[in-house]
Amino acid sequence: MTAPDDPRRGELAAALRQVEQRITRACAAAGRDRGQVCLVVVTKTFPVQDVVHLAGLGVHDIGESRDQEAGPKMAALPVEVRARTTVHFVGQLQRNKARSVVRYTDVVHSLDRSRLASALDRAVGAAVEAGEREDALEVLLQVDLEDGVQADRGGVRRDEIRALAEQTAGCEHLRLRGLMAVAPPGLDARALAAAFARLAETADALRGDHPGADLLSAGMSADLEAAVAAGATHLRVGRAILGSRPPQR
Ligand SMILES: *Cc1c(COP(=O)(O)O)cnc(C)c1O
Repeated sequence: MTAPDDPRRGELAAALRQVEQRITRACAAAGRDRGQVCLVVVTKTFPVQDVVHLAGLGVHDIGESRDQEAGPKMAALPVEVRARTTVHFVGQLQRNKARSVVRYTDVVHSLDRSRLASALDRAVGAAVEAGEREDALEVLLQVDLEDGVQADRGGVRRDEIRALAEQTAGCEHLRLRGLMAVAPPGLDARALAAAFARLAETADALRGDHPGADLLSAGMSADLEAAVAAGATHLRVGRAILGSRPPQR
């Protein structure tokens, strides 16, 4: 697979250990079990070889955010790595990419509108029909923590979640599993904690209607501690493990 003495593997191993320590400490501070938190390593912009190194280091949850990049990258993984990898699609998703994304994705974190739910449902149905995947797609609804103030970042407004959840739960090929959010940039620690607390409240409300929707995807390189404190079950960490990325898009 990959040589244990490859310098890039050593670099990733060291960064992964540091992030692990941060998660362990955050869990201890919050009185939570480390086992309640899944680390998704976001490998966007980084080569397939990094995904292979990560698999060798025990990371089997991989996040990607652009179909054009993720499709070929996942297809290029050695079969034994691919078989153990759970692919999380975390980026904004266009309807015309649904059919491609459902070929290789296990969990979509970024469902944020009604027409995308319908498109994903149809796409999974077609993929199952074509023998390209076996089962339903797990989806999280992406919440806009700013309630529409900054409309370009994606996410459904909190007052629209109920209707989207209802629709999603009724889709034959989708499994509603919870919520996802990206914290607005530039918040101080207090504002960040408040934003994640609102998210946690929203997640509780959703679980009241849909008991199976018990996942909460929040927390990135810069704010994973605050997310763990607020009850996140999935952290999406890129830069803190892989290094800095060139600016995107
Ligand atoms: C890139 C990305 C991440 C990872 O962010 P880092 O700051 O690199 O940890 C998490 N979530 C989403 C939606 C992303 O696009």
